[in-house]
Amino acid sequence: RVQLKDIRKSYGSLEVVKGLNLDIAEGEFLVLLGESGCGKSTALRMIAGLETITEGSLMIGERNMTEVLPKYRNVAMVFQSYALYPHMTVAENIGYPLKLQKTPKAELQSAVLAAATKVHLEDYLERMPRQLSGGQRQRVALARAIVRTPSVFLMDEPLSNLDAKLRGAMRAELKRLQAELGITTVYVTHDQIEAMTLAHRVAVMDAGVLQQVAPPKEIYDNPATRFVARFIGSPA
Ligand code: ATP
Ligand code: MG
Repeated sequence: RVQLKDIRKSYGSLEVVKGLNLDIAEGEFLVLLGESGCGKSTALRMIAGLETITEGSLMIGERNMTEVLPKYRNVAMVFQSYALYPHMTVAENIGYPLKLQKTPKAELQSAVLAAATKVHLEDYLERMPRQLSGGQRQRVALARAIVRTPSVFLMDEPLSNLDAKLRGAMRAELKRLQAELGITTVYVTHDQIEAMTLAHRVAVMDAGVLQQVAPPKEIYDNPATRFVARFIGSPA
């Protein structure tokens, strides 16, 4: 469970996140949807601890994480740019979070193999990132995120670099993986279709403010504001 209470972010005098309230259930797949510049990545980065929270509070499970360092939050983040280490093999990339935790070698190796198998990369362990396609790199980033069983999964437009066909396939794979692992997930996108197909609930954001938080069908059938109606493309 992840709870955001009136979370705000300002850069100087510019407020870009204006009081987010969200209660994300254990195992829920929540998609944060909105136009470019509305504050989605900033919100996600505050949950990850990569950005300080100007005001408000963040709970993960029973813990108040508002001011806790990223490495103690047990969250895994996947970025749009994959952010793989170019000089490390696939196996080393996937195992890196465990290496940082000084996990014993045998345990690390079996965890890497298990994570790689979940994303169908078990035959690519000794390759370098430059020898992989975009979709394969994306799966390495996913495997690295799940290798430690985080309590929360944070994904920032993880499929936006892929072509339409691969994006569709990866979307299905992500959905399957999330359901199988049951890890609470916050997924950021500006793509309505992606939001509608992946989410248990969609949180629509505009200019730093949440407009509506509801299951996809309800968002589509009963948009709460004009912005939501226009953005989702449903009649209103
Ligand atoms: P996109 O879909 O384009 O990724 P986004 O919804 O993720 O957009 P954010 O990256 O959260 O948007 O940015 C929200 C607003 O905050 C933007 O207007 C951006 O210019 C501003 N912003 C982000 N980071 C900083 C920063 N470090 N300093 C000042 N302003 C920032
Ligand atoms: Mg962004």
